[in-house]
Parts: sequence; C-alpha cells; structure tokens
Amino acid sequence: MTGIPPPHGGRVPILPVRDPMNAFDTKLAENDLVLGRGDVEILQLNVGRVCNQTCRHCHVSAGPNRPEILSEDVAREMIDFLDRAPTVHTMDITGGAPELVPPFRWLVTEARRRDLHIIDRCNLTILTEPGHEDLARFLAENRVHVVASLPCYTSGNVDKQRGDGVFARSIKGLSMLNDLGYGISPDLPLDLVYNPLGPSLPPPQASLEDDYRKRLREDFNVSFTSLITITNMPIGRFRTDLERSGKLEGYMDVLLGAFNTAAIPGLMCRNTLSVDYLGYLHDCDFNQMLDLGLSGRRLHIRDMDGEKLRALAIATGDHCLGCTAGAGSSCSGVLVR
Ligand code: SF4
Ligand code: SF4
Repeated sequence: MTGIPPPHGGRVPILPVRDPMNAFDTKLAENDLVLGRGDVEILQLNVGRVCNQTCRHCHVSAGPNRPEILSEDVAREMIDFLDRAPTVHTMDITGGAPELVPPFRWLVTEARRRDLHIIDRCNLTILTEPGHEDLARFLAENRVHVVASLPCYTSGNVDKQRGDGVFARSIKGLSMLNDLGYGISPDLPLDLVYNPLGPSLPPPQASLEDDYRKRLREDFNVSFTSLITITNMPIGRFRTDLERSGKLEGYMDVLLGAFNTAAIPGLMCRNTLSVDYLGYLHDCDFNQMLDLGLSGRRLHIRDMDGEKLRALAIATGDHCLGCTAGAGSSCSGVLVR
C-alpha cells in the first residue's frame, strides 16, 4: 500500500489493519492508500455544547440547555499540553458557542501569551447577546481570527437553517466586526462559512466567494476576508433530518460517488488534535461528536504528548466520506483547489 506522507514530512506511522473495513477504508484500500498522521499543528478545542442557537444542520446538536461545559481544570490541562507539543502553532476554539464557556477568555489570553494563532468559531449572534457586548473588542485586542457561520447572503435561507431573525443579527455582528477592522485589516481575518442547506455538495468555493462578496458589500456594506465551504457531515442533527426524510442513503451515495483521492493529503485529522470539554482526545471534531476516541481509544490530554500522538492511527468511519467528496472538506474549507 502507498503511504501518504505526513503534511510536513517525517515518518509515516505503522497502522493496524482495520477489520471490518468501513466504506471510507474500503475506498482507501481500493486506491492503495493509507492515512498517515504528521506532527500535530492545530489544537482544536471543543469547549462545550452550550449555544444560544439550535441550528437544524448542527453536527454538535448544540443548544441553550446542553450541560456540557469546559471546566477551569481541564482548560489548564489543555494549555499544559502545549509545552509537550511544540509543533502546535494554532489553537482553534469551537463549540457550541465557545464564548459562552467561562474559561474561553482565559484560553485566548494564554494562547496569545504563547504567540499562537487563535481561531474562534463564532456564530455571530453571540456578539449581540446581552452580557457579551464587549466580546468583539476582546477578540480584536487579542488578534483572534474569527471564523463565522453564514450559510447564505439572504435572510430566507439563513433563517430557515439557523432560526428566525438569525440573519439580521448575523449582519449586525459582521458590521460590529468590520467597525473594529475585521475583514479589512490583514491582522484581523474574518472568514465566513458556507454549508449547503440540503443533501448536496457545496458549489465551487471561489465563485461562491465572489457572489458573497458582491452581495454583502452591495446590500449591507459588509466586508470579509475569505469564504470557506464545508460539506455537511452525515452525523448529528443533520443525519437525523436525513433519516426522517428518507434521504440518508441517497446522500451517502453522493459522498461515495464523489470520493476524491486528491483530498486525502489535506485531511485535517492528519495534523489536528481534537479535544472535548472533558479533555478526552479525538482525531477530529466529527469523530468527537460520534464519541469515537483518538485512534479508537479513550485517551486524555493530560497523558498525551506530540511524540506519542505521532504513533497513533486515525480512527475512521463511513462519515469520513464527507471529507473526501468533491473538492474535499475541512474546517478550513476545500482541500483541492
Ligand atoms: S451550528 Fe453553531 S450556532 Fe448553530 S447550534 Fe450548532 S454550534 Fe450553535
Ligand atoms: S471525519 Fe475526521 S477522521 Fe474522518 S477523514 Fe474527516 S477529519 Fe479525518
């Protein structure tokens, strides 16, 4: 079998044989490929499932009543890990709405002190929630890269997926960020995230970005840095919707039929470590939502370091086909340009 080199060089770990193989592993085997993990470069923290929204496609099934919230002790263990993994250059904070979790600002300031690139996956409406009026300024002062969900540039489509009134509040949040220099100054990147409304692959990222830029500028005087398109993963609330409407099988066929080997070198599980709010480790945020532990095991961040991590195989499942369909998909957008 052909080992895919790690993202930035180094050895390819020896992987255990998986039996039985899922549809994703079968596709890899058919193409004579295995997944190899590289150095961990991105620490992606899912700090809880509490959110001020309840979007239909949410792969985290987040909402206001979810009790899962990061504690201060686990937040400290997340920061301590950085000293044992010097190859990490980015802290990517997600949720739920990560800003609702009490240690959020502490994590940001600790990462900033270590000169890491910091990403906040922000739902925009949190910026106008009572009690969070100073959040946008805090993010700007700490040079946090904001990655914000906006699945369309029209209110009808956004409100249908994310709830009534969400579009108007999202535009208000974007305007607040623009006023601080986000999406305008190179130091303050503001990326928007698009995901399809239904069971189809996203359209080409570059042309959709042009449409977004034109419409948001002309209709709302809003600027942003880049548009990221993400394929809906067949998990969580989106999967339940597909099951209810009898569309799950058809969607899996779409993903399988669009399998693209060129997406594999960029898969985020190859250089990202995903950590849940209790400190347990996963190969990516999607696996985390499926309760699939790192390399199929239950491992905690307090016991992990960069070297140990390199030796562990990546746990996969049928849902991985969402990352390799078409132009590929990751938290940073398409994988094949
Ligand atoms: S998609 Fe984002 S904003 Fe919507 S419920 Fe899930 S975590 Fe909250
Ligand atoms: S779902 Fe996770 S483990 Fe599977 S290919 Fe995508 S990033 Fe990798």
